[in-house]
Amino acid sequence: MALDPTRTVAELKELRELTADENGAQRVAWTDTWARAREWLRDKLAETGAEHDVDAAGNQWFTLRGENERAVLIGGHMDSVPNGGWLDGCLNVLAGVEALRRIAANGTPPVTVRLVDWADEEGARFGRSLFGSSAAAGSMADQDELRQLVDRDGVSLPDALEAHGVGLDTALDAQVELESAAAYLELHIEQGPVLESLGLPLGVVLGTFGVERHRITWHGQAAHAGSTPMEKRRDALAGAAKLALEIRDIARRTGGGAVCTSGGVVCKPGIVTSVVETAEQLLDQRDLSAQRLASMLAEAKAASERFADEESLEVDWERIWAIEPILFDETLIGFCEDAIREVAGTTHRLPSGPLHDAAEVSRAGVPTVMLFVQSLRGLSHTKLEDTKEEHLQLAVAALDRLASKTIGWVAGGGGR
Ligand SMILES: [Zn+2]
Repeated sequence: MALDPTRTVAELKELRELTADENGAQRVAWTDTWARAREWLRDKLAETGAEHDVDAAGNQWFTLRGENERAVLIGGHMDSVPNGGWLDGCLNVLAGVEALRRIAANGTPPVTVRLVDWADEEGARFGRSLFGSSAAAGSMADQDELRQLVDRDGVSLPDALEAHGVGLDTALDAQVELESAAAYLELHIEQGPVLESLGLPLGVVLGTFGVERHRITWHGQAAHAGSTPMEKRRDALAGAAKLALEIRDIARRTGGGAVCTSGGVVCKPGIVTSVVETAEQLLDQRDLSAQRLASMLAEAKAASERFADEESLEVDWERIWAIEPILFDETLIGFCEDAIREVAGTTHRLPSGPLHDAAEVSRAGVPTVMLFVQSLRGLSHTKLEDTKEEHLQLAVAALDRLASKTIGWVAGGGGR
């Protein structure tokens, strides 16, 4: 059977028929619609002879046994956000289905090839993303918090998992699945505007951004808006405002895709007749280089001290959350560039702002790469999410070529 990328597009539409309503995709993890999508997927793969099983974290695996136990993994996720798009997650899986068909038709592959549908990538129902992949990667460490989570209808996470045969206490047993993993490949829609603005269908992803998130509190003095002269004020909002503008320059000076966002400022007392006494500011900084990320943070802190001085304020920093950048494998990045050039002529290297299952697999020490296909208008997590069909077809072809190259590499002793 030759690769037929038009079949992938037809199957994406079929899945949309089955699992979307007028508001978009409804394949939220741990729901009946999600289970129906996974059953449908199982039927799609039956003819390839791939063995089907579901691991301890609810991840669905399709295994084509090769001459060798070492495995090349292709991954994606069938779950969606509520009112989601027709591509996020399931494009990855269905492109993998087409690659698996082509590989199966060529006889026993030299190494094992496995397609994985990760459980609950989106975290849409309980607010915990990358559930299945973090369990398989062994990085899940928040079981105590997960036990407390309830959805909008009061159903607890453990009960929702149980209804689908997954136990929270045993989810980490899914780690066994990555023991034989030699390499991991994932295709995804870009979910951003970069490839479209460059007029390119496909790009190779270098890794996922590291993130620094802080709450910055500015302390000034509340004072009457009418009776307090301008030069006597200790206006907490002035410090936050100066920093909100400064971080844009910090990101620009850093370059290379670095981004800084001041996502909110809450002022107290927050009334029209008073100078602001405290301003609580949220800051999110991201970059692909740990060193550049650290220096962006240091620059923002130094600037805040300067502004506090200028405005006679005090300033406190509190870290809310952080994750280090995750860099993909150099050899696989090279294969991915070759594959993209072969099908599309030109390629582009870009980082990923959002986290993906691939980041968890990479953290577990499995050589990993992702490729992005252009997203129209950069939209995702909405029914407006879209990609040109010709680009979807190129993406399937590129993933298949990347899989071929990776299988050859692993067969020759490459990979983990
Ligand atoms: Zn996704």
